[in-house]
This record gives sequence, structure tokens and C-alpha cells, in this order.
Amino acid sequence: MRIFDPHIHMTSRTTDDYEAMYAAGVRAVVEPSFWLGQPRTSPASFFDYFDALLGWEPFRASQYGIAHHCTIALNPKEANDPRCVPVLDALARYLVKDGVVAVGEIGYDSMTPAEDTALAAQLQLAAGHGLPALVHTPHRDKLAGLHRTVDVIRESDLPPDRVLLDHLNETTVKAAADSGCWLGFSVYPDTKMDEERMVAVIKEYGTEKVLVNSAADWGKSDPLKTRKVGDALLAAGFTEDDVDQVLWRNPVAFYGLSGRLQLDVPDAPGPLHEGNSILRGGE
Ligand SMILES: [Zn+2]
Repeated sequence: MRIFDPHIHMTSRTTDDYEAMYAAGVRAVVEPSFWLGQPRTSPASFFDYFDALLGWEPFRASQYGIAHHCTIALNPKEANDPRCVPVLDALARYLVKDGVVAVGEIGYDSMTPAEDTALAAQLQLAAGHGLPALVHTPHRDKLAGLHRTVDVIRESDLPPDRVLLDHLNETTVKAAADSGCWLGFSVYPDTKMDEERMVAVIKEYGTEKVLVNSAADWGKSDPLKTRKVGDALLAAGFTEDDVDQVLWRNPVAFYGLSGRLQLDVPDAPGPLHEGNSILRGGE
């Protein structure tokens, strides 16, 4: 089974995770820029983080045979912090970089006016840079948040078939499917979707435009959830081709809209990134 995890925060994960992911079939990931769990106090910390998503983390992934890309944005939560909003003015210089395959995660957290502004501005940035957008849908008030998100997308210059709506569930999947956007599902150990619910959703909505991710980060999460969904789909009678569409071809098609996917990882990537190795500081 070949697996592309279209939403995983590897910066927060260990090398054991990379090894286990490779063994489970993961060969490509996209790491969206997001909130780090504690507030950042200046744009400079975002820029160092973005640089790591474009430099160190793809290097680390390559040591484990996994192709790594990222999405860049001011995340919805920190869009509410006036200290962070100037990040918006600097995004253009990141969005031209080869490793960036979408603008994201953008969207709503608490649905504030500041989030409205950041979402609309970043959808326009995506349209202007020929990039698709990864849109996080809120964890609270999900259906209202989904409708409001789709309204803002409709008012933007970015067509819905270049938008991936993520963190969907049974409450929001119908409205999301009707919008013409791609459909993303985060499968977590305790909350949101689980494997069996995911199988039920795919039975009802089919495999087209459906992406499944682990969204693994610094919270309780499981970077092997993609594989577990693949196994659950096979056990439920789906074919290997169905599983390949959901776990590989759909994410390749969506992020391929950027024209920047590089799925080949060199067999023997160099051991150093800017003079440093994963052996802490180099040999
Ligand atoms: Zn995320």
C-alpha cells in the first residue's frame, strides 16, 4: 500500500514515527504550517519555522525515504494576534518556493473578523500564486463554520476545485461535497473521525476527491492512521485500487495542482543539511 499523508505536522514527531510510517507504506507527506501550541510573539518566529519546513524537515524526512512538502500561511488561531498579523505581508516571498505546494492551513478557528480578513487575503494570495489552498474547518460550531468558509471561498478568485476543506465529519461532509471542494478527513485516536466512521463516509460519498490524513501533531494523535484507514477499507470490501485512489492518487492530484510535487526521494540523500546531520551537529 502506498500512502501520501496530506496533512501531518512532522516537526512535532520523532524519528521512530518516520521509521514506522515508512514501514507502513508512507512515501510522501505534506506538512501544513500551523499553530505550535503556544503563542508566537513576533513574525520572526514564523519565518524561522517556515524555513525549517522548507529545509530541515524535508531533509529529515528524506533520511527515512519520505518525500516532504509544506503549505505556508498565517494559521487561523494566530490571525487573531496583532503581533502576528504582519506575517501576511511576508507570505509572498515563501509562496514562490519549490517546496510549497499550497497556501495553508487557513480558515476559521473562532470565526472572528480578524480571521475573516486573513482567510480572504490568503485565498487571494493562493489565486495570485497559482497555488491550491488547504482550509482548516473549525472544531466547534462545525456546520456554521463550514457554510461561512464556503461563502468566503465563493467570494474569492480561487475556484473551489483548488480548495481542500479539511477536518470534515458526518456533520459537514454533505455541504462540503456540494461546494465542489476537495474533501479532507483527519482521523484521530479519540476525537473527530475514526477508521470505521471514515469507511462509512466513503461508502456513502465514494472515493472521488476524498483525502484522509492523520493530522498528527504535538497532541494525542497517530501518524499511522492513514494506513489503518486503508486496512479498514480493504476489510470492508473496497479494492486496492479504491484505497490507492484515496491514499495516494487523490493527494497527488490535489497538491499536484501546484505543479511542484517532487515524489522521488534520492536513494542515498546526502547526510548533511547546511552542515548538520540527524546525528545532532554532524560527524
Ligand atoms: Zn493541522
